[in-house]
Amino acid sequence: MSQPFLPYNLPDIGDDEIDAVVETLRSGWLAPGPRVRAFEEAFAERIGVRHAVAVTSCTAGMHLALLACGVGPGDEVIVPAITFPATANVVVHVGATPVLADVDPVDLNLDPEAVRAKLTARTKAIMPVHYAGQACRLDEIRSIAEEAGLHVIEDAAHAFGTTYRGEPIGRARDAAVFSFYATKNITTGAGGMVTTQSDAVAEGVRRLRMHGLSADAWDRYTDAGTPFYRVVAPGYNATMSDLEAAIGLAQLRRADAFLARRRELAQLYAKVLSDVPEIALPREREAGHSWHLYVIRLRRDALSIDRDAFLRELREEGIGTSVHFIPLHYHPYYRETFGWEQGDYPNAEAAFSEIVSLPLYTRMTDADVERVADAVRRVVERHRR
Ligand SMILES: *Cc1c(COP(=O)(O)O)cnc(C)c1O
Repeated sequence: MSQPFLPYNLPDIGDDEIDAVVETLRSGWLAPGPRVRAFEEAFAERIGVRHAVAVTSCTAGMHLALLACGVGPGDEVIVPAITFPATANVVVHVGATPVLADVDPVDLNLDPEAVRAKLTARTKAIMPVHYAGQACRLDEIRSIAEEAGLHVIEDAAHAFGTTYRGEPIGRARDAAVFSFYATKNITTGAGGMVTTQSDAVAEGVRRLRMHGLSADAWDRYTDAGTPFYRVVAPGYNATMSDLEAAIGLAQLRRADAFLARRRELAQLYAKVLSDVPEIALPREREAGHSWHLYVIRLRRDALSIDRDAFLRELREEGIGTSVHFIPLHYHPYYRETFGWEQGDYPNAEAAFSEIVSLPLYTRMTDADVERVADAVRRVVERHRR
């Protein structure tokens, strides 16, 4: 009777991706080149944005975008209390200070009122996350930024396929940064993309991702180029390789099917879990959710079990889960360095004791979703108050 363990996440890699990698390997050109350019063009066209700049990760892209926007020592950057640590780490990397703001209690996105309360004369940028694939309240965040003269650098790691009021996430005045890490909506293994309507930000990121070399250095190994380049900034090494871009191009061609399947799986979860009042299901606050994550919330007053034990019992039932995310102020480094204290971000803290990310990925079958739901129901039944 025992079924194999259902992992929390699996990438969807098919023959297209495998063939594209083999073809690239055989081509003899692995460095950033024609496939990176083609991936950038296809990505920019899909989003409908002027520039897409491919980088080694979302983390690297956010770092370079902050630099390109001129964020540095003495500046403060507002980040949400619930996010992956990279969102705050990149602020530290540019010498600025991350400032935590609490999240909305329902969608766990940056709360615009909490942002307003954290503005100071030093605030230079806001970094909203589109949590789980649901767009944050971008209009309100943009108008705060406009009033106060701030940059908005969107952590769009979850937001490939997300739309906001009919427009794809990524048409950013400053920058939106996507992740192609193995678990994300489309993957290149590891990789990221900075999108922007700003010529200056695009140029800054392009220069910084490649050692600070002048733009024409791209061609230095081709018959069109020369081996000479000029260093115009002390840049980094963060350009995507053609090998990753080849995977990205293949994934992009399948993206509409991926997103449709994610939506279907989310709808199926909503249906099969609708009769379990002890858990709250995620809702689409506005149309445009890309369903990167399916995060349920335990109703602690209805259950005699805490979140960690709930995860353990699901594991014993053969179901992999995850938690997105540990609030940043729970981590020792930030607490000690920035004095962030427990009690100061009540919505993030309440959420953390309740959130469980269920498996959601395109390779899941409808039967897998039913199996997860049955396991959830059994755990709930054992621990109903
Ligand atoms: C995955 C993730 C990142 C980091 O992406 P990488 O491409 O691995 O650097 C950043 N922010 C959030 C919210 C993420 O989920």
